[in-house]
Amino acid sequence: TAPARDRLRIAIQKNGRLAEPARSLLTACGLSWRQSRDKLFCYGESLPVDLLLVRDDDIPGLIADGVCDFGIVGRNELDEQGAARRRIGLPDAYQALRGLNFGQCRLMLAVPEEWEWSGVEQLAGKRIATSYPAILADWLAARGVDAQVVELSGSVEIAPRLGTADLICDLVSSGATLAANQLKPVETLLESEAVLAGPVKTPDDARAGLMAMLLRRLDGVVKVRDSKLLMFRAAQDRVSELTRLLPDADPLVQLPDDGGHLRLQTMCHGALTWQRLEDLERAGAQGLMVLSVERSLA
Ligand code: ATP
Ligand code: MG
Repeated sequence: TAPARDRLRIAIQKNGRLAEPARSLLTACGLSWRQSRDKLFCYGESLPVDLLLVRDDDIPGLIADGVCDFGIVGRNELDEQGAARRRIGLPDAYQALRGLNFGQCRLMLAVPEEWEWSGVEQLAGKRIATSYPAILADWLAARGVDAQVVELSGSVEIAPRLGTADLICDLVSSGATLAANQLKPVETLLESEAVLAGPVKTPDDARAGLMAMLLRRLDGVVKVRDSKLLMFRAAQDRVSELTRLLPDADPLVQLPDDGGHLRLQTMCHGALTWQRLEDLERAGAQGLMVLSVERSLA
């Protein structure tokens, strides 16, 4: 077991898709750092929470080895390394503690556009290029499909054209990369997003309290980040129709009224487009106001 520590260490990606959103999420949780010169280690100033800036591939291992207490990494990377550990008989050493609602993508099978896709049986005897060999092997095994996994560390999408594989298993967000390589997605292996990863067992020193506090702050930011506080006035007989138009909102809360109309508010978790506000107005909402929510304590 790792020695006791009284400062928390969080690993995040140094450069790449998750680097900036991970940092800004932690900043929203009240953390700040003195930037070190080599920028690999950032010393925590507002709280005893330091940052380690690394390649995302290193994050699961840093948690497994007890070097870092938390990490922000794609579920895809965490699951792949977890599956790889299990395949060689190692115990689980980390877990995804929270989904963070950014970095969304899917791990998908994609085949040449001209293929007629009829199902997984079609994969028998085929070569599949991927950077996620353990997830793919587990997925194939679970379906009893005997295909060959070709591990590549990058540029997976050109493997079919190069003839090194028949199809691929790779991360997809918009699908533009697939289309540019004359591939089409056919099966989803994993829905991924950035997660907060932590150890299976919480350390029993000063870090435990810090970890609990950080988790609570994270929940207070992530849950409300994309929510809006909606306020308006309406006549009593309009309330049921307005409620119907807000299926993605909490139950309406009535505020002390200002004579005549009710004053109502609710937290809405879906997008409040202009179109929706205009629909609400037509249904009897007056003086609509949409407010961003920054943080909350449940
Ligand atoms: P590093 O240098 O840290 O190893 P990387 O090249 O492995 O970086 P990025 O391309 O920055 O990683 O992607 C980081 C994570 O972003 C992915 O593991 C995945 O969880 C997420 N992600 C979201 N959309 C995509 C996408 N379209 N392609 C690849 N990753 C995506
Ligand atoms: Mg990487």
